[in-house]
Amino acid sequence: MSFRPPPLFPLPTERTLTRRSFLVGSASFAAAAALSTRARGAVASAPTFSAYPFALGVASGDPTPDGVVLWTRLVPQPLEPGGGMTPEPVDVAWQVAEDEAMTRIVRRGTAVANAAWAHAVHVEVEGLAPDRWYWYRFKAGSETSPKGRTRTMPPAAASPERLRFAFASCQKFETGFYTAYEHLTREDLDLVVHLGDYIYEKGPAAADTPRRHNAPEIFSLDDYRARYALYKSDPALQAAHAMAPWIVTWDDHEVANDYAAAIPERPDRITTEKFLQRRAAGYQAYFEHMPLRRTALPSGPDMLLYRRLAFGRLASFNVLDTRQYRSDQPPGESRQPLNPFILDPKRTIMGVKQRDWLFDSLASSRAGWNVVAQQVMVARVDSEPGEKAGYYMDKWPAYETERQSLLQHIHDRKVKNAVVLTGDIHNNWANELLSDFDRLESRSVATEFVGTSITSGGDGVDQPKGVDVLQAENPFVKWHNRERGYVTCEVTPKTWKTDFKTIPYVTRRGAPLTTRATFVVESGRPLLQRA
Ligand code: FE
Ligand code: CA
Repeated sequence: MSFRPPPLFPLPTERTLTRRSFLVGSASFAAAAALSTRARGAVASAPTFSAYPFALGVASGDPTPDGVVLWTRLVPQPLEPGGGMTPEPVDVAWQVAEDEAMTRIVRRGTAVANAAWAHAVHVEVEGLAPDRWYWYRFKAGSETSPKGRTRTMPPAAASPERLRFAFASCQKFETGFYTAYEHLTREDLDLVVHLGDYIYEKGPAAADTPRRHNAPEIFSLDDYRARYALYKSDPALQAAHAMAPWIVTWDDHEVANDYAAAIPERPDRITTEKFLQRRAAGYQAYFEHMPLRRTALPSGPDMLLYRRLAFGRLASFNVLDTRQYRSDQPPGESRQPLNPFILDPKRTIMGVKQRDWLFDSLASSRAGWNVVAQQVMVARVDSEPGEKAGYYMDKWPAYETERQSLLQHIHDRKVKNAVVLTGDIHNNWANELLSDFDRLESRSVATEFVGTSITSGGDGVDQPKGVDVLQAENPFVKWHNRERGYVTCEVTPKTWKTDFKTIPYVTRRGAPLTTRATFVVESGRPLLQRA
């Protein structure tokens, strides 16, 4: 007879999935039904595990004034296909408390972890108080997860005095240690925004790297799951997730380098059908490992990721997906001057539906600051020194007519304090976005902060050679730097302050953090002032 300790958690009294959230949130009814409801047959409510099942930690995300998404995944053997779990569904109890010691529990329930979704759990907690911190944890069998801290948004009509958040992107596991996340975890932050390249898809690099991808290039769902497990095994990344709610979007490497909608980088090497299977695997694994709502539940190769979140009236976050709906990159060189192909008004980086949604969202917004959190650089930076112009063709300038129409829209509709946040490019930029990039003297209508990578690219440099020429040819670029790190933003009704936080190396542990540059934007004046 084996002794079983009394359960830490009382038996579940409510299901996590209310009928309302189920119907409202579901883009794909059938898929949603399999996500965290009971499948036919037994659910293991007292499972045992071959090792600690919460090996990837916990996370929370997409807060509202009365709720937040809580995430975890049961995976005792993270790097193995199947994660060391048997196919049966498993009950996972969850608790939300008002205090760190978790003595004042305010919400609790049970979710079901299903093998079809990698035994991941996405709990959409409702009924919390606005604008306050909470702590949460999960329990499965006799195992208890680490504790996470999260918060709700202020009431929709409230006018908060301050928001502090960080944004990050591009965390190739091989090229360095997540020292930047160790520093980020010590910041005082309400939110963390991740702008993509959370994983990279290739096999191990040929070069000597401080860490290794543990498998060849990933294609199948099991491959992608194991890659997330490798990345999320990092304690600094887990700590960063456990400290505050995250708002996430993807870039290309969550599927494959430089893909555009259904078109891979090398369409000569793979059929559209096969590529869409790969995209479906990448999207599903992304959903399984991120604290996303059921509205984002993937259905085959489709997943609705663009969305809006509000920090009261202070700031609205429009989170974009510039990968799933975009026209293909122009044929030819990766860097090109403008030409009739690029200027074709049918070319799109957002897709018509997302563009209409964004334009409506910006035009009707009553927010003090209108954030566009997205992947690739909007400023049209000419990176070809001299007379000739050259723009990188994976970024907004390859969709020049739509890019210009966004800035025109911000100008014409007098969108208040538009601020674009960007990842992808593995270096820091502070840009003013001009109403007309053909006339460099035209006025700035918005600002863009481009954040460097967490690790991608390896150890960086502060100022690259030729930065003076770059800035002379692109006077709207107010600052550029190529170290690793992240960006923090402190937002008040009157000012927006951005700190570019950098570390000098990532190939060794222990790099110190520096605030390399600070810029302030005053409300009503979309200009960058170096502080
Ligand atoms: Fe990247
Ligand atoms: Ca990228």
